[in-house]
Amino acid sequence: METEDLVSQWEKLHLSKEESSFFHVNPETYIEEGARGKNCLVGKALTEKSVNSEGFRVTMSQIWKLEGWVIFKELGEQCFLIEFQKLTDKERVLSGRPWFFDRHLLTMMEVDETISIHSLQFRFEPFWVQLHNLPLATMTEEFGQQFAEAIGHVIRVEAEADGRAWGRCLRVRVAVDLHQPLLRGKWLMLGEKQHWIPFKYERLQSFCFKCGVLFHKGRNCTRTRAEQQGDEQASYQFGPWLRGQPRITNIFDRRRYGGGGGGNHRKDEQQGDRDRFECEEPRCKGKALKVEVLAGKQDTSLAENEEEKKQGSNPNHQQKKQQ
Ligand SMILES: [Zn+2]
Repeated sequence: METEDLVSQWEKLHLSKEESSFFHVNPETYIEEGARGKNCLVGKALTEKSVNSEGFRVTMSQIWKLEGWVIFKELGEQCFLIEFQKLTDKERVLSGRPWFFDRHLLTMMEVDETISIHSLQFRFEPFWVQLHNLPLATMTEEFGQQFAEAIGHVIRVEAEADGRAWGRCLRVRVAVDLHQPLLRGKWLMLGEKQHWIPFKYERLQSFCFKCGVLFHKGRNCTRTRAEQQGDEQASYQFGPWLRGQPRITNIFDRRRYGGGGGGNHRKDEQQGDRDRFECEEPRCKGKALKVEVLAGKQDTSLAENEEEKKQGSNPNHQQKKQQ
């Protein structure tokens, strides 16, 4: 019997006096500062089939390239408690999201020791989203911050120290709701002129081409049956074209040629080692999502590119390649 069934079973039972009296616990007794949970994450692979546990451990630990050790404990068929020896490793993994196992999105959460494993709700995962076709005037940090709120909570906008972000596209890191259809773009009205701003999601892999959510794939889509007899075109409103190639937009390239001055002015360099974000998700009910982002964006992009190359093949194949 599944845990959920076991838990909801009490509703049908007539509880005895002993059963229905509460056992009171002060949370402070059990949750200490610096507790083990701080070094842990809970990860769940978004797939219907069960995950090869050993393949998962080997593949993820190789992709992450950690400095310390990592321990995986199976909490369910697609769910793992992941304990890192070093906090820095955990932060790198968090800031490098999204991660995939065998093309399936691995959603991750910080450990909240006051809730039980089965009531964990995986709802958000940060993505770098590219906003294309923007008029130059709107390629700024401030605009990106406001415009991209339509997609989800904006964690950061890739911009220079003065807030400008002129480049091929505006890159915005957004906590995307896994249960909402991906936004494919949005109309912008700049004065009298209208512009269609297409969105592309970097490192986007499996998602539902029928309804556009990340949480399931077409086979499990509730819309599939309803639209089977309808217009076939209407059922494919989403597609691989929503995937954006991870790229360095070169907005930080400030080399000057000729004249006296010169040098790069990268905002990242002025921000110290790490930005720390702790944000209340607007579409999240009641629970804060902690998002940590490394400031060395360009380095992260490189890591993402490297990681991207590794993805898409099955773990056994990867292991063979590396031997
Ligand atoms: Zn669907």
